[in-house]
Amino acid sequence: MKQKPMREILAAARGERLEGVFQSGTMASGSQIAIPWVALRGIKDGPCLWINGQVHGPEINGIFAALDFVNALDPRKLSGSIVVTATANPLALNARTKSTPQDEGDLDQSFPGNANGLATDRLAHTLFEQVRGCADVVINMHTMGHMFDSAPYAVYKVHPNGKVTEKQLLQLIAPFRPGVACRMNVEQGLGELPGNIAGALDYQMLAIGVPAFMIELGSGSRAEAPYITQGIAGFTDVVRRLGILGGAPVKHAPLRRVTRRAHVTVAHGGLFRAARAPGDSVRAGEPLGTTIDMHGKVVETVTMPGECVVIGMRRDPVVHSGDRAGFVALEWDEADCS
Ligand SMILES: [Zn+2]
Repeated sequence: MKQKPMREILAAARGERLEGVFQSGTMASGSQIAIPWVALRGIKDGPCLWINGQVHGPEINGIFAALDFVNALDPRKLSGSIVVTATANPLALNARTKSTPQDEGDLDQSFPGNANGLATDRLAHTLFEQVRGCADVVINMHTMGHMFDSAPYAVYKVHPNGKVTEKQLLQLIAPFRPGVACRMNVEQGLGELPGNIAGALDYQMLAIGVPAFMIELGSGSRAEAPYITQGIAGFTDVVRRLGILGGAPVKHAPLRRVTRRAHVTVAHGGLFRAARAPGDSVRAGEPLGTTIDMHGKVVETVTMPGECVVIGMRRDPVVHSGDRAGFVALEWDEADCS
């Protein structure tokens, strides 16, 4: 669908707040399938930060954080620009589903997209064509699923082409004060859920030399005020670092960089009760939680064979064999982000 590129919209403006939508298609009823955007264009020239509020329907905290952040800024005080696309998958947002209901596509496995593809491919293409050639940094917001409790953390990939360094990414991630910064493997079967990880927005941006990463801002289907505030503080520090907004950037302590993580699954169905919380360090053999059956008998104590750090912990107690009790870091170190 031909529409005006964001870089041209920004180039034509000065000291303004703008808003609109990127058209991606229509529903049977005639209503639009469109990606809403808000843009601030400073008086002076400078880089462009692009924040995408969500790719997965139930992940809400990032939308609040991005919109609260951008709508509190005075564009006349900026050097450069900030673009917020609140949701890149309006179909999934409407349906409160992670994937697009029309084709079961996961938008964050569909970039750079396809103008002639399924609905999800079209949304990916619509966003990617706008971000490409406009954004200097891209932050793609997520949360964990609503069945988990989680504190904010970061996920990033390192592209083998080396156009963006790990150090550059860590310097932009540190402002969010994540509990952990996970360096995610793009290859299959390395502790991640199945899927096309290389189709993530951040990875496709790295491929063309644009620093990009994911912030997981708490849990799904909720508006968690402290995490929204933490997200806004992160965006603010990032725009200071990029020189878009005046003021000194914050100095950050080294990040806990995670190089291996795993989903912990249960063997027995029943009601799972978590014993630990996100951020906890858990020693080998210590319980992460226990599961009881419908007679109240403990049928499973979930443990890990080695030390781990809890990233996400199951909140919904109802579990069947194979369900995830938690998401944990298995290997980590300290990474300098100064
Ligand atoms: Zn997500």
